[in-house]
Amino acid sequence: MSTIADNLSALAARIASAAQAAGRDPASIQLLAVSKTKPASAIREIHAAGVRDVGENYLQEALTKQQALGDLPLIWHFIGPIQSNKTKAIAEHFDWVHSVDRLKIAQRLSEQRPAALGPLNICLQVNVSGEDSKSGCAPADLPALAKAVASLPNLRLRGLMAIPEPSDERAVQEAAFATLRELQQGLDLGLDTLSMGMSHDLEAAIAQGATWVRIGTALFGARDYGPV
Ligand SMILES: *Cc1c(COP(=O)(O)O)cnc(C)c1O
Repeated sequence: MSTIADNLSALAARIASAAQAAGRDPASIQLLAVSKTKPASAIREIHAAGVRDVGENYLQEALTKQQALGDLPLIWHFIGPIQSNKTKAIAEHFDWVHSVDRLKIAQRLSEQRPAALGPLNICLQVNVSGEDSKSGCAPADLPALAKAVASLPNLRLRGLMAIPEPSDERAVQEAAFATLRELQQGLDLGLDTLSMGMSHDLEAAIAQGATWVRIGTALFGARDYGPV
């Protein structure tokens, strides 16, 4: 087995045991393989090992890999910060966007989504740790944003996403993920998705209801460059 396939087996075991500890069906937790900074060949390997969903942070890098992997039936998720001038290409080349944090971006994605592709799946990114430097909408602004995004014709609002401030303490990790879960319940929009949990905190995220875990390092190894 390749290292990537080995990593995937170990990760599947982590997800299964976290699900069991939380009394959840492991099938209710989907794996998003985060491949930023990694070559198309690594995505080809993870696909061969059975993974279908791929997350990328940088548009140009993602488009280059999509070109190289056009023969594979992959589902592409955009998970990075979004500038206005990138919305058209994102609307045309992705199935999901996890990182929408303001209405202007959502409106552009809706206007620019090609009808033939069907609605674009959207998660709203929320800043649950209150750090100034992080992207994500403030919890106080979420209800109005969610209501407005839910009404846009070519988007399908699925749920919420967060990248909490990193912590080694399980209780701190869980508190941030619980905040996201409670915010989602408070919206009462029938949302089915919580995109939360990365390589170092997926157990805490699963305990608090994650439906997507976004995993890079634990699958592909450490990154040589780029943000964590
Ligand atoms: C890089 C990244 C991940 C994956 O992080 P790892 O710690 O490598 O698992 C998940 N989500 C987002 C938004 C990222 O940018």
